[in-house]
Amino acid sequence: MKLYSTKNKNATVSLKEAVFKGLPSDNGLYMPTEIPVLPKKFFDTIDSLSFPDIAFEVSKALIGEDIPAADLRKIIDGVINFDAPVVHVKDNLYVLELFHGPSFAFKDFGARFMAGIMSYFLQKENREINILVATSGDTGSAVAQGFLNMPGIKVTILYPSKKVSEIQEKQLTTLGQNITALEVDGTFDDCQRMVKEAFLDKELNEKMNLSSANSINISRLIPQSFYYFYAYAQVKKLGKPLVFCTPSGNFGNLCGGLIAKRMGLPIHKFVAATNANDIVPNYLSTGVFEAKPSVATISNAMDVGNPSNFQRIQAFFDNDLSKTKLEIDGRSFNDIETKKAMKEVADQTGYIMCPHTAVAYLGLRDYKTECTGVFLATAHPAKFIDIVEEVIGKKIQIPEKLALVLKKEKKSILLSNNFSDLKQFLLNRK
Ligand SMILES: *Cc1c(COP(=O)(O)O)cnc(C)c1O
Repeated sequence: MKLYSTKNKNATVSLKEAVFKGLPSDNGLYMPTEIPVLPKKFFDTIDSLSFPDIAFEVSKALIGEDIPAADLRKIIDGVINFDAPVVHVKDNLYVLELFHGPSFAFKDFGARFMAGIMSYFLQKENREINILVATSGDTGSAVAQGFLNMPGIKVTILYPSKKVSEIQEKQLTTLGQNITALEVDGTFDDCQRMVKEAFLDKELNEKMNLSSANSINISRLIPQSFYYFYAYAQVKKLGKPLVFCTPSGNFGNLCGGLIAKRMGLPIHKFVAATNANDIVPNYLSTGVFEAKPSVATISNAMDVGNPSNFQRIQAFFDNDLSKTKLEIDGRSFNDIETKKAMKEVADQTGYIMCPHTAVAYLGLRDYKTECTGVFLATAHPAKFIDIVEEVIGKKIQIPEKLALVLKKEKKSILLSNNFSDLKQFLLNRK
């Protein structure tokens, strides 16, 4: 597999280099030079394959010789070891549940695959790396779970004190082992700034192998294509064209869908649904991309004012707005609409959605299609239990594994929001 930078088609790198570098130095994003189309036979028989079988075929075609097939199969079997069922909600609307992994959010797919790939490459080298990541909630717990007990990898997570939910904090701070949680007296922006400063600090970089688990890493994108294929396998028998609706923030999830389509998956249309942070729907209707400061919503994992994968979307469509609109329909919804949808669907069908999933539901409902519509459920409703129970007016069940985490003792290290404190901590620990 070769990857180019969206800022320079000629500067290609290997998968390994793209994974450990994260970002090209020219500030573009890595994109595959070639996206292979899978053979007709694969699609003819896809409904007889398991989820790991499908993930293996897709990743083998994309990754090629960079990882031998037997090794790749082992990585896939370790990563794709939970289900992603398609559940009927009502009429022609179905939901693809992506929250059955260890952190109860879809970011498990990206984080676990990245961990599997990194540790595979590191095993052959005998070096140790330090992953530094800032989180506002979901990313940190997926990354922590993904890298837990991986040899040769230490993970340090910075999170803003008192600004993540109780469940999210417990998920970050109770794992121990190779995972350290730093509780920063500041905001998420402070955490992100401190991580950025660490990557720019010469002394830190000389003394330790720092690596990022940023969401734009290509190894987080690849596995986000797998479940579009698996969803298709589950609804193929309905015999109708497919529309997917993806609740979007940084648009990594949607880019995974675009990869799947380029590999031949018959997808009639994507609906990109956002909350009030409507940068991409605006771009699709006006042709102008205007980043803005993010606004806070109840679907807070999608509160993004400058979607980091936008350059990738541009690359998929050669910067051509009319081509983009042929494949992607953009819609945005405010919190009032989102709450109404959560309540309505719970009352009418009994199906309970987290706020992010409700935004995706709205996108499909408004798109009004004769096709089979599949919206993506990106988090378990119990992860957002306070708002969900308040809106639907009922108690919901917490999965046993999540309830267990809540009982564990929090272990975090308090830190100021000064970079020098982070630096001291990292150097002293070494
Ligand atoms: C991260 C996240 C999203 C947004 O996904 P992107 O790939 O950034 O568009 C949506 N829902 C949940 C629950 C998330 O954690």
